[in-house]
Amino acid sequence: MTEYEPVIGLEVHAQLLTTSKLFCGCSTNFGAPPNTNVCPVCLGLPGSLPVINERAVEMAVRAALALGCTIHGESIFARKNYFYPDLPKGYQISQYEEPLATAGKLEIEVDGVRRTVGITRIHMEEDAGKNVHGVGGDSLVDLNRAGVPLVEIVGAPDLRSSAEAAAYLRALRDVLVFVGVNDGNLEEGSFRCDANVSIRPKGSDKLGTRCELKNLNSFRFVQRAIDAEIARQSAILDAGGQVEQETRSFDPDTGQTSTLRSKEEAHDYRYFPEPDLPPLRVDSAFVTRLEAALPELPSAIRARWVSAGVPAALAQTLTQHPGYVRFFEALCAKYPNRVKAANWMATEVLRGAEVHGLDATFTVTPDQVAELLDLVERGEISGKQAKDVYAAIERTDRMPRQIVEERGMRVVSDEGALRAACEAVVARFPDQAATFRAGKKGVLGFFVGQVMKETGGSANPKLVSELLTRILEQG
Ligand code: ADP
Ligand code: ZN
Ligand code: MG
Repeated sequence: MTEYEPVIGLEVHAQLLTTSKLFCGCSTNFGAPPNTNVCPVCLGLPGSLPVINERAVEMAVRAALALGCTIHGESIFARKNYFYPDLPKGYQISQYEEPLATAGKLEIEVDGVRRTVGITRIHMEEDAGKNVHGVGGDSLVDLNRAGVPLVEIVGAPDLRSSAEAAAYLRALRDVLVFVGVNDGNLEEGSFRCDANVSIRPKGSDKLGTRCELKNLNSFRFVQRAIDAEIARQSAILDAGGQVEQETRSFDPDTGQTSTLRSKEEAHDYRYFPEPDLPPLRVDSAFVTRLEAALPELPSAIRARWVSAGVPAALAQTLTQHPGYVRFFEALCAKYPNRVKAANWMATEVLRGAEVHGLDATFTVTPDQVAELLDLVERGEISGKQAKDVYAAIERTDRMPRQIVEERGMRVVSDEGALRAACEAVVARFPDQAATFRAGKKGVLGFFVGQVMKETGGSANPKLVSELLTRILEQG
């Protein structure tokens, strides 16, 4: 049987986080009552004229720069004509032959292997409205979303597995979220993905016939849909058939893709330049200013942290959201042991973290965590006590030191008190004491454990181990 190589290219539509629409002043506020954020321009009423939103252009350029694209000084808006109830003008204003930006790239990593994936083009366009079906047997149209600014990011057919496609999508979302132009929400549709999939005999450099998959509204669905499509196309070729170019839809319930539109039913959009808008000009000073203001991207942050000793897996976890990065940097400014800080943040802090678009909320502050880790570092409280203190400060503005004092939690570092406990334990386990004296120093851990147990975990473990060593060696 022939071995096949999958070829995948993703097209992503990302909503730009402007407060007003692309060609009018209407609000982009999500969840407003239907058809309240509308005006003659986004309703497509005769005589109304579009005016470009400069903020949207800024955000599109920022996205394109972050993805290493060439920004074109002049790009052209075009009308993409089709008839659909959610499209009041009968066309969508998009860009076609002369897009805003081309030739970018994105680095992905799958199973420790890094690859650079091409980005063919980025163009600006407006969103359509939304059809709401089954309202008392009727279908209704909500045009609040019509005219909301989008960038379409067309990826090159460089991906070779569904895992690479998912990694590309995650990396792309992270870049857009970090530069603050998109909230990365697949489920709510502000970050949407279509996947083009073909297969070819391994070793061939000719592209096979592709199908376009729609309706992929989670990272998991993207991966499952692509795998199902690869299996379907492989079965067709194995049976001596040919893949037909078409648009297919993924059904998460059956795990299968099915025909949405065949090639014959494909739209002919009859693109032509938008006569109501002049060419979009972005001068080099504008681009240079935006480039200088770009924040550090997640890949660069990870590289910096890893070279400071943070394990790669932790660095990956803590760069999943810009809010996590801000928290971690603030924590490390006060508590400089990055590795311990990263561990504590990944295991404790992120459990209580919640992400909403560009915001992340936490149940503690970096200051609280820094003070807590410092108390452990100084041996004032044990690791076990630290967890209790943490539970007590979560969702409060209290500081760890207060809790420690209130509860009398300080570890016992009083030599006199601890010496008695140590002596008692040594006396109680004469066999183990003999083992120690015979040279098996490893049993010291056993004695320390016993003393800790006896003191309810409150003894200073460093001091206990020193005292025990002295007692055992004397005996
Ligand atoms: P169209 O003009 O029909 O939109 P494009 O050439 O712009 O086609 O490609 C659209 C998307 O399809 C891109 O993301 C590209 O990477 C992907 N693509 C193109 N050809 C193939 C192929 N043979 N197999 C898989 N993906 C492909
Ligand atoms: Zn409007
Ligand atoms: Mg296309």
